[in-house]
Amino acid sequence: MADHPFNYDLFTIGAGSGGVRASRLSAMMGKKVAVAEEYRPGGACVIRGCVPKKFMVYASSYARHFKQAHGYGWEMGEPEFDWIRFRDAMSAEVDRLSGIYARNLTNAGVELFEDRAVVEGSNTVRLVNQNRTVTAKHILVAVGGTPNRDNDLPGVEYAISSNELFHLETLPRHIVIAGGGFIACEFAHIFAGLGVDTCLVYRGETVLRGFDDDIRTAVHKGLKEANVQVITHTVFEKIELVDEHAGLKRVTLKNGDVLDADQVVLAIGRDPCTRGLGLETAGVELDARGAIKVDAYSRTTANGIYAVGDVTNRINLTPVAIREGAAFVDTVYGSKPHACDHSTIARAVFTQPPVGTVGHTEAEARKEFDQIDIYKTVFRPMKGVITNPQDWMMMKLVVRTLDQVVLGVHLVGDEAPEIIQAVGIAVKAGLTKAQFDATCAVHPTLAEELVTMKDKVSPV
Ligand code: NDP
Repeated sequence: MADHPFNYDLFTIGAGSGGVRASRLSAMMGKKVAVAEEYRPGGACVIRGCVPKKFMVYASSYARHFKQAHGYGWEMGEPEFDWIRFRDAMSAEVDRLSGIYARNLTNAGVELFEDRAVVEGSNTVRLVNQNRTVTAKHILVAVGGTPNRDNDLPGVEYAISSNELFHLETLPRHIVIAGGGFIACEFAHIFAGLGVDTCLVYRGETVLRGFDDDIRTAVHKGLKEANVQVITHTVFEKIELVDEHAGLKRVTLKNGDVLDADQVVLAIGRDPCTRGLGLETAGVELDARGAIKVDAYSRTTANGIYAVGDVTNRINLTPVAIREGAAFVDTVYGSKPHACDHSTIARAVFTQPPVGTVGHTEAEARKEFDQIDIYKTVFRPMKGVITNPQDWMMMKLVVRTLDQVVLGVHLVGDEAPEIIQAVGIAVKAGLTKAQFDATCAVHPTLAEELVTMKDKVSPV
């Protein structure tokens, strides 16, 4: 129970992955905790991110499975996709999960306010709809991010973001997606798989900037192989509504191209959700992108106010927010401060085929160390050999020459996200190429290639 003159020990703003973890753990330690959530418990991951997105990936991947099934001897009629039936099943599961998040909070003794909360001072929060203030010894800001809207773009009101893609009334016939990051690439594959005429417009040369170059090249190639029209080196100039009744939009690109579509999507990054949160009143400093500045212990520049998750724009991934939330609890209520470890975090991009990656890219390793060995293989996965002979998988190891430590593993191909979770342990543990090689293969699998790569790629 609170032993100070505040209403709560902890007030958390935002019931997403980071906020929920921190609040539950704190309440389970006997702290008096409240959470305010203005939308729905679960946050971006559960409500409009990872979870429904993965269902959409599964839905879209059936197109390929049906083709493969034919190659394996199965006969069936022409498959048809019912968007509404799928969408409603997906929404029902999201509702169920959101309910679980809410129940887990309240079962742990956390008070949940379905309200917007703003900071009014170091220890004061105002619940906007209830129009009352409450006080807390600590405030945790875990409000996440929101899609960047590019408000200078003429006709931006005709574009939607990934938030709306889960609720469409009809499956579009033509979709144009701006961006070349996680969200643009994943949704381009989803819609192409669902039979939608899909175009991706990226301002650079090769999608997925920041990833290993071999991953980028493979994903770029994969988009084209999936029949996504990929237009590079340009951006949207304007969007117009050409037929309101049919919902038809026209996108004019800066290179002069004109694209008609019934849905236009901006997937051009996410910004921290700090606007209008009153943080300045408490002396919480933001960076140029509006992210809350924090130290290794998630402490903001204001005493007693902490921040975790995407609102801090460190590594914007659900499992990272969860760990930051847990580290916050250790720091504030545990016996010693706990800095969340942000190194060597494996990640996946659910393109089709998907990406799994952990550790140094080749470019990063070459910059940091004198000599690097690269092992790389591109091969045909067994499953596709008799049905989709054009299928491929790319695997790459980045090894430090001096001590043979495997610094990075980069995969594109079926099961890459599942494989990278396991091999990420080896990379995190700092194992060497010899230790990879000493591990007996599991046969026949895709992953066995990771322990059988013998030949270094010759330096260029
Ligand atoms: P990303 O930062 O991954 O990508 C943004 C893309 O938009 C880049 O290709 C960028 O180009 C481009 N871009 C940025 N500004 C503009 C502009 N003004 N005009 C045109 N293009 C622009 O953001 P996302 O929105 O795809 O995803 C946000 C975050 O969400 C990710 O960084 C990730 O942390 C998380 N996420 C994780 C997923 C996963 O784990 N599988 C899935 C989805 C999201 P350039 O490359 O030139 O900068």
